Amino acid sequence: MTTYPAPTRAQRRAWALKKQDDRARAAYRNSLPQGIRRLEALLASAESPWHAEVIQARIAQVREQTRYKIERRRSRTPEQIARDQADVFPDGHQVCAGCGRRLPVSDFPRDLGRRSATARHCHDCRAEHLAAQAERENDARINNR
Ligand SMILES: [Zn+2]
Repeated sequence: MTTYPAPTRAQRRAWALKKQDDRARAAYRNSLPQGIRRLEALLASAESPWHAEVIQARIAQVREQTRYKIERRRSRTPEQIARDQADVFPDGHQVCAGCGRRLPVSDFPRDLGRRSATARHCHDCRAEHLAAQAERENDARINNR
């Protein structure tokens, strides 16, 4: 049997401080918002490197959780997808986040990373968005010549 030397006063003090700091970090972490965008805004105006460290750790955690959630959604069977879709849209309709129209789910593109497997913007809004984006990129190309 090996015997270990009793911890010194300094060691015990260091452990107590570490424990106290861990508790403070957990309390601060739990007070943070959930969304990445709001966390990033907070990070930009962090009070101290200590706060920034906790916020960064939380951002990494949220990213990891999101990756996991999306991966799990993408591996659903068609039957599961249909069930989830029926749960989210019991009447088979969704309000478009762009034009605000209430449209049947078939008027929206698929997005398997979402629980509803349905994008938030309708086909019309997406086409408009893509056309505007293409135009912007085209302008940039011309201006950079
Ligand atoms: Zn729309």
